[in-house]
Amino acid sequence: MRRSEITVDLGALRRNIRRLREAAAPAELWAVVKADAYGHGSFEVARVALEEGAGALCVATVQEGAALREPFPEPRILVMGPLASGDEGLARTASLEIALSSFDQAPQGLPLHLKVDTGMGRYGMAPAEVAVPAGAIVVGVMSHLATADEPDETFARRQLDAFSALRQRFPRELLFHLANSAATLRFPEASFGAVRCGVALYGLSPFGDDPGRHELEPVLSWRSYLAQIKELEPGESTGYGRRFLAERPTRVGLVPVGYGDGFRRGLTGTEVVVAGNRRRVVGTISMDSFAVELGDEQEGDAVTILGDGVLAEEHARVLGTINYEVTCAIRREPERASVKYVDG
Ligand SMILES: *Cc1c(COP(=O)(O)O)cnc(C)c1O
Repeated sequence: MRRSEITVDLGALRRNIRRLREAAAPAELWAVVKADAYGHGSFEVARVALEEGAGALCVATVQEGAALREPFPEPRILVMGPLASGDEGLARTASLEIALSSFDQAPQGLPLHLKVDTGMGRYGMAPAEVAVPAGAIVVGVMSHLATADEPDETFARRQLDAFSALRQRFPRELLFHLANSAATLRFPEASFGAVRCGVALYGLSPFGDDPGRHELEPVLSWRSYLAQIKELEPGESTGYGRRFLAERPTRVGLVPVGYGDGFRRGLTGTEVVVAGNRRRVVGTISMDSFAVELGDEQEGDAVTILGDGVLAEEHARVLGTINYEVTCAIRREPERASVKYVDG
């Protein structure tokens, strides 16, 4: 093994997609593959999603969309973020569809999805203003939920009602789409014509709990190894700032992965699996390395950072963030890690 290896389980991805398609049916499932598929690799994820019946690919930028158009000539590709100035030509060449957030920006000759702000307070037009701009090719109407993952349903339901109310104002053939992963799993009535699922495709829980509770399987695992073992005497420390001081003779293993690889510096105290045993990450995380407190494990033993029961949700909790950020942070360039895809 090189410093670390990322394994992307396309079989798990297939099962998650089937699960989400069932939840959304008869609406289409659209696969959100922005940010390199949340760190999972957008080409492979898009290929499998299309094989499993995804009706479209959703990205954040025209560049992400154009990169996917080369290998995938057929499917609908929707750019959900704002069209940056100068990107119109590329969007047209790549036959992308664009989320339109304001009439001033209406690009000519591109299929548009009118983006309505029903309460997210981000991109989108106010519901009262939404109309089909003259000469525009409108194919869809969309909105985005601010609180679909939160225990209190009140605000999500208000957004859902506001979005439903728009339907009478538009021709029936327009595709209405609102739901993200959380809403797809939680509000079947929010599915409309299509759902836009990201995080759940990857087997990450949109609610931050155990994905198994939602019949989702983590797709990505990340493994490294014990590159060296140190025996600390009481009073000796490991790492910058001497933040871990041994109180008794302590064996510590060094793992060649750090925040430069996406193992964030706030992860001190989280757990990884070393040769089958849960072990605690100790001391300050360096750019290229972190330390674990060991039992009797040996140099060269496998260290699972994600996978084998270690969930992105656990690391997210230690970091005070969401699972999305954990996988998006993982650096997958060949200079840092190797990436392996398995299917079946
Ligand atoms: C990222 C994004 C999604 C996907 O959200 P998940 O919570 O990952 O399912 C859906 N819609 C829009 C507009 C987005 O930006």
